[in-house]
Amino acid sequence: MLSQAELDLQARARDFARRVVRPRAAAIDASREYPHDIVAALAAEGFMGMTIPAQYGGQGRSYLDAALVIEEMARECTVTARIAVEANMGAVSAVMEYGTEDQRRLAAGLVLAGDKPAICITEPEAGSDATAMSTRADRKGDRWIINGTKHWITGAGVSKLHLIFARAFDEAGAELGIGGFIALRPAAGLEMEYREPTLGLCGMPEGRLGFRDLEIPAGMALPMPNGFARGFADLINAYNSQRVGAGTVAMGIAAGALDRALDFAREREQFGRPIGEFQGLQWMLADMQTQLTASRLMLHAAARSTGPGGRFPDPMLAAQAKIFASEAAIKIVNDALQVFGARGYSRDLPLERMLRDVRMFTIAGGTAQVLRTLVAARLLGWKLPQTRG
Ligand SMILES: Cc1cc2nc3c(=O)[nH]c(=O)nc-3n(C[C@H](O)[C@H](O)[C@H](O)COP(=O)(O)OP(=O)(O)OC[C@H]3O[C@@H](n4cnc5c(N)ncnc54)[C@H](O)[C@@H]3O)c2cc1C
Repeated sequence: MLSQAELDLQARARDFARRVVRPRAAAIDASREYPHDIVAALAAEGFMGMTIPAQYGGQGRSYLDAALVIEEMARECTVTARIAVEANMGAVSAVMEYGTEDQRRLAAGLVLAGDKPAICITEPEAGSDATAMSTRADRKGDRWIINGTKHWITGAGVSKLHLIFARAFDEAGAELGIGGFIALRPAAGLEMEYREPTLGLCGMPEGRLGFRDLEIPAGMALPMPNGFARGFADLINAYNSQRVGAGTVAMGIAAGALDRALDFAREREQFGRPIGEFQGLQWMLADMQTQLTASRLMLHAAARSTGPGGRFPDPMLAAQAKIFASEAAIKIVNDALQVFGARGYSRDLPLERMLRDVRMFTIAGGTAQVLRTLVAARLLGWKLPQTRG
């Protein structure tokens, strides 16, 4: 059950999404351009940096509040929803939790003004096996020098704040572990070297970033609570918020597709009656709603939960919710397109865009297979694999 305040926020987000986001969604997809106008509108509405504590200028809202807003954006435009995820979860959560005062103020200022931070973990040779990363940060006096290549970075070429996961080495060349390093774009030595021609999410650049002797001040390394030795585990703990966000985007796309399918099933007539009167279609619609409800309940439970350290969603709930919601959403959107017959296959309607967009959510942020590995390891009582899953 949502509280009255949560219902009010949901209604405000729905109104915003229909009024401001819906009319832009198709053009964002077709142009493949990052929607700076929508970002400005999100910031003006208070949907960027909602989870940032009030002392840093945010609203100190919960992950559930953020999820309610993200679902409404995803019903209309996946790119907008992903901006809302990364402006309220993931990198921003890690900096607000682990950062110094200066780092928190810096991140809060940027996000509240409309920056969607980039989180830089994946490398060409280190995907699911993220701890095999080779990007390194070498300490030189009062600076860190970063070298390496990150791939599939959401917001490459548009984000200002980058949270870079890298192996840290001290002045003597001894490895300390994996840490999080804040770099701001533009900077010499930080370049987008390739933009992926993606299947969906076309207004959001996904790219390969090169760090070539990128220099950042020593004070831009996150002071991890357990030092660099457990740095990766602590950073991935913060990432559980982003997993809830990603699952919520998938679920929101599915909710938008089902809404449209229901309208069409009421209106479209064949054999002298609305197609929604045919039991073959009714059962499809009922199954879609059932999967959607289960997804939403799991995601809200994960958003409300807290795991180790008490600050981020529980890893087990976040993983299960993301697996279930991302797989269910692909099926729901595919079935919604089927309800439309040939019309669903046309670019004149949003169903084909939704199907292209929803496909990625079993991949990014821990694949469905790797998240199952995490769940199974917990069930068996084994040490968590040191992967991003
Ligand atoms: C649209 C999009 C946006 C992204 N955004 C970001 C971002 O902002 N920042 C970032 O750092 N990364 C980002 N990623 C990268 C994403 O997190 C990785 O793609 C993901 O972690 C998987 O890595 P990989 O693609 O290299 O696949 P691989 O690790 O090479 O896996 C290939 C296949 O093998 C399977 N597999 C691998 N290991 C196992 C195992 N142990 N057991 C069973 N199956 C296994 C996988 O499930 C997959 O099916 C993004 C990806 C996409 C598609």
